Amino acid sequence: MAVLAIHNLNVRFATPDGEVAAVSDVSLSVAKGECLGIVGESGSGKSQTFLAAMGLLARNGSATGEALFGGVNLLTADEPTLNRFRGNALTMVFQDPMTSLTPHMKVGQQLSEVLVRHKGLGAHDARMRVIEMLKRVQVSEPARRFSMYPHELSGGLRQRVMIAMALLCGPELIIADEPTTALDVTIQAQVLDLVRAAKEELNTAVVLITHDLGVVAGLADRVAVMYAGRVVEEGAVRRIFKAPQHPYTQGLLACTPRLDDAATSSLVTIAGQPPNLQRLPPGCSYHPRCPYAFERCTRETPLLTPARGGGVKACHLDELPAARQVA
Ligand code: SF4
Repeated sequence: MAVLAIHNLNVRFATPDGEVAAVSDVSLSVAKGECLGIVGESGSGKSQTFLAAMGLLARNGSATGEALFGGVNLLTADEPTLNRFRGNALTMVFQDPMTSLTPHMKVGQQLSEVLVRHKGLGAHDARMRVIEMLKRVQVSEPARRFSMYPHELSGGLRQRVMIAMALLCGPELIIADEPTTALDVTIQAQVLDLVRAAKEELNTAVVLITHDLGVVAGLADRVAVMYAGRVVEEGAVRRIFKAPQHPYTQGLLACTPRLDDAATSSLVTIAGQPPNLQRLPPGCSYHPRCPYAFERCTRETPLLTPARGGGVKACHLDELPAARQVA
């Protein structure tokens, strides 16, 4: 059963230059103990989809559709209900921990407050639980770190503190938004291991948002690829890596360096730029960059249809007579 089920989500931002369609008709779900990877370039709508679900859109943003969590539609829930979920059953880890940690408060105090607020623990018990959790996420000398300020910790340690905070209340869902982008490769692997442990040992559902398909390879069970605010392909991680069917997914994979293949280790990029969300091209938003675009792509938005091998993809290529198919 889905821990979070998003149906027909649309997110719009009102700007002085007009409306921006950040997310269009997105439906996604993630189950207990499952990791759903969300992949796409910046501006693809991957973060805004989940910020909308958390009730954390910027003031000029609005969302329609449904984001069901524990039977509650988060999009229409009032602030007290959202606050009951956030930081407790529903937690988020961001790329930059400094945006979530209060700079003038010691990290231990910030973590303890979560337990006092959501679990009703006293100060002593909260401290013990926090130190135990810091140890669990491999923060060395946890009792000493407890009394330190965020700026006194390295980037890797701060991200561990954020993961400790996300895990403290035994969440049903962790949304990790580019959790490793700012970290060096070794620390990246350690942080991803912590997320994997939460998923496997605590049966937590995880949404892993990243621009890098390589990051989801070892962790996600399913992947949704987003482009210009829409899901363009979704399926089991193995199928997506083995047989990507949307040209954008194929392009992203070609940009992912493979250590085992010297021939593909040189950096490839997808030609062109992501579209301006205020002036999306007609038809398939990817058509100005797609090497396989044909006439229909310029006038008709492709719908999600079953993909070979499972999952879905949004592309007209399958309807092109076989003789004219290039992929
Ligand atoms: Fe390319 Fe057309 Fe498929 Fe869009 S619908 S990805 S433009 S082939």
